[in-house]
Amino acid sequence: MKRPIKGLELEEFSEAMQSLGQPAYRAKQVFKWLYEKRKDRFEEMTDLPEALRKVLDEEFFITRHEAVKTTGSKDTTQKFLFELQDGQSIESVLIPASPALYGEPADRRTLCVSTQVGCAYGCKFCASGLDGWKRNLDAGEIVEQILAAERLSGEKINNLVFMGMGEPLANFDNVIKAIRIINAPWGIGIGARRITVSTSGLVPQIRMLADEPLQIRLAISLHGATDEVRNLIMPINKKYPVQELLDACEYFASRKKQKITFEYILISEINDGLDQAEALVRHARALHTKINLIPYNDVEGLQWKRPSITRQDAFLRVLEKQGIQATIRREKGHDIDAACGQLRLQNLKHKDLQST
Ligand code: SAH
Ligand code: SF4
Repeated sequence: MKRPIKGLELEEFSEAMQSLGQPAYRAKQVFKWLYEKRKDRFEEMTDLPEALRKVLDEEFFITRHEAVKTTGSKDTTQKFLFELQDGQSIESVLIPASPALYGEPADRRTLCVSTQVGCAYGCKFCASGLDGWKRNLDAGEIVEQILAAERLSGEKINNLVFMGMGEPLANFDNVIKAIRIINAPWGIGIGARRITVSTSGLVPQIRMLADEPLQIRLAISLHGATDEVRNLIMPINKKYPVQELLDACEYFASRKKQKITFEYILISEINDGLDQAEALVRHARALHTKINLIPYNDVEGLQWKRPSITRQDAFLRVLEKQGIQATIRREKGHDIDAACGQLRLQNLKHKDLQST
């Protein structure tokens, strides 16, 4: 079976070339075509002997995502819906810097990538899991999201968040491999400190990630500060309750010597009470974490609502007053930008309508 070349590390590919009777330096040459010159056909790699190009074609394929739908514009958040080889679809979201709002560096261009088709974890606020879990992405399909987004937008991506569809730590091996390729100088070359993995709280995998020799960042989708509230929102909390999750975070922070971020969606009357804010302060203080508050985005088919601005502010004030580093995401166009998984969902519905 042909192997996806964008999912291979240089060393692996060199070995494969050697076992095909090729000198190892050829591997570097091919990767240069892929990652520097961005060519997606072996026949375009003109300094390779023709016979070799033929062999490559027989042994490998070059993953290429085409956008079936793009929303947004160059100056706003752009969403790409990609169709995969097997007809499944995923999305990636390109978010430009917003220095005026958050004091982010003006040159920051963040891509939010997906790691699975669908999601098995069924958090109650999230569109990604509504249609269940379909499959894992392979490393090449993860890497290609960046190359495709750069090709389509003309922008260079320099910041990466694993906050798209799927639970990255449930696809651990492929995600780690993709990160190595994205980080490597022979690959895409994005610094590890500019890569953030977000998880709903898979405790054993957080510990495994802590032991990986990669200085990537970690964000935790917390969304509830006590078991009572988090159980209402995220089924995974029954398996790994808040204290176990915090212990794993502590382990991660101590191994990596860096601050973790807690993501906290504010949902009206569910988790926006000030008692939750107080509990959150205690966790943040114990672990020296930053907190990102995210006003809930309406998802079709889900009942919950976003709290009023007054309630959002009251929650934020509790954190700030106690010296916790916290921001609230409140950009314009939030409703259109929405969260990952929503564009795909609309498209699936559209297809359903067409086929009935
Ligand atoms: N599975 C991983 C990665 C997906 S990121 C995880 O759960 O961390 C999921 C993030 O998308 C959430 O933490 C939240 O920041 C955002 N999100 C999903 N649904 C949302 C909604 N309805 N409103 C606002 N943010 C949402
Ligand atoms: Fe899956 Fe994350 Fe959405 Fe939960 S929030 S359903 S883990 S993608």
